[in-house]
Parts: sequence; C-alpha cells; structure tokens
Amino acid sequence: MDDDTIEKYYKAGNILATALKKAKEKVKPGVKLIEITQLIEDELIRKKGYSPAFPLNIGINEITAHYACPPGDMTAFPEEGVVKLDAGVHIEGYTTDMAVSVGYGTDKYQVLIEAAEAGLETAIKTIKAGVRVKEVGIAVEHTIRSFGVRPISNLSGHLMTQFQLHAGVSVPNVRVENASSSYRFREGDIFALEPFTTYESAAGYVKNGKEICIYSLIKRKTRNMPSQVTRLINRIWGERRTLPFSFRWYSQLPQAILNRLESQKILHGYPVLIEASLQPVAQAEKTILVQRDGCEIITEE
Ligand code: MN
Ligand code: MN
Repeated sequence: MDDDTIEKYYKAGNILATALKKAKEKVKPGVKLIEITQLIEDELIRKKGYSPAFPLNIGINEITAHYACPPGDMTAFPEEGVVKLDAGVHIEGYTTDMAVSVGYGTDKYQVLIEAAEAGLETAIKTIKAGVRVKEVGIAVEHTIRSFGVRPISNLSGHLMTQFQLHAGVSVPNVRVENASSSYRFREGDIFALEPFTTYESAAGYVKNGKEICIYSLIKRKTRNMPSQVTRLINRIWGERRTLPFSFRWYSQLPQAILNRLESQKILHGYPVLIEASLQPVAQAEKTILVQRDGCEIITEE
C-alpha cells in the first residue's frame, strides 16, 4: 500500500476516534438516539469534510449490531443499560471501523466491557504478518473467558479493502476450524477487530431480528422501476457505491419498492442482530494495519 493511501487511513481513523470519544460522553438516560447519531454523522464527520463509512450503529443491551436510527426514530436511551456505538469514516472508499461500549445505571455491565476491551487488546498483541486468523480466535476466547463471561461466537472481525467493509476474510473471536480461518495476515492488510461479549449464562450467539435499518447497493442497474427510484439509486451509487447507508440520508422508499430492489439483487438489507437469549452484549472494535512485526492501530486520536 502506498504512503498516500496509508495517510488516508490514518486521517479517517483519527476523525473517527475523536468523534466516538466525544459522543460517548453524551449517552445518558432520556437522550434520543438521533441526537447522538446527528452528532457523530453530521457534526463530527460530515461538517469536518469527511464521510461516514456506514450509518452509526447504536446497540442497546441485547441489540448487538446493525441497528441504526430509521427515518423519524424517536427512541431514547433507557434508565440503565450497555450501549454500543459503532461508527465508520471513509476517505475515497478507504474505510475505518471502530466501536466503544458505555455501561450506565448499574455496575453489572462493566465486566462485559472490560472483557471485550481485553479481548481486543489480545487480538492486537497476537497479530503480525504470517499469523493465522484462527490463532486470534483462540487467544481472544481465552482472554474473554478469563473474566467469567463469553464471546459472541458468530460475529467476527473483517478484512477491509477500498469500498469493501467485509472483504472476504473474517477474524473469529472463538476457536474455529473453517476454510478461511487458515488465512495468514499479510503486511499492509487493513482489518477491523471486534470482540463481542455476553454473560456466561447467555446463548452466546446472535440471530437476525425483523427490522432492517441499513442497506447497501450490490449494483446500480435497475429494471422496470419508476424513474424517481432509478434516479435515487443512481444518486446513492454515486455517493456510496457499495458502502452501507440509511434511507434517513435520502428519502424513504415504499416497502414494495424495497422488496423489488432486493429481489432484483440491487439492494441488500442488513437485519438487526440480537443476542439469541436476549442477554446484554458489549463490544470493542478498532481498525489496524498489519505490519511485519506486529500491527498498528489506525483508529486513534
Ligand atoms: Mn463496526
Ligand atoms: Mn466491523
């Protein structure tokens, strides 16, 4: 990777880390999710001249990933809970991805947050060029279980390439044996690492919920669509290519049109992911650059 590209990653990562640190302080009972969303997406990313890599994900308790404020969202933070803020910034399609967790109202979520953060640190310490991704899973699981809690088994870190948030290689947070788990990290790879934790008594995996808040385009070419739909899809493609977006950023389309776009394989929807036994979940995530002797954190202030 050339120096110019690396510089874009570090700039995007710095904007992102700064935004999340500021936004984290604002999570309080009664505050509307849309306020934090606008703070991150508009005030701390767009107004500084950058673009979100995806809509801000806000996961409260068992809501683990892929919830982002839908158009008109009036939801507020509850009296107590563990809240995951997961955001991204991209420059010319070079994406950074980071998440922080906040527990409030009680101490009982603290162990989940500490275990997720320790798991992330273990992953960072384990990675260098030549290490297999499955070795990370073994080490992260060991660290997380030493806190008496468990990792979410079916969520993982991911390789990122230009305009591709999930570029085909996963970094497990548990011991696994599958085809891609023998991938060896390469110098110059950009990965998001993201352990999730829940209580020992929980199911320990996520399932799809009914709601879809986040979409991405697979291709731009529509068939037999009203001209305003075709225009909107072209506009989104111009701004996002294959990066995820919320219809809150554009105008909402009727469900029937969304269904047609999905069946034509133009649009992909990401269902909200929920811990299968409805137990609370914490998350820690950073983006790293793999080097010969270790790895460097990209998402830092
Ligand atoms: Mn993320
Ligand atoms: Mn991620």
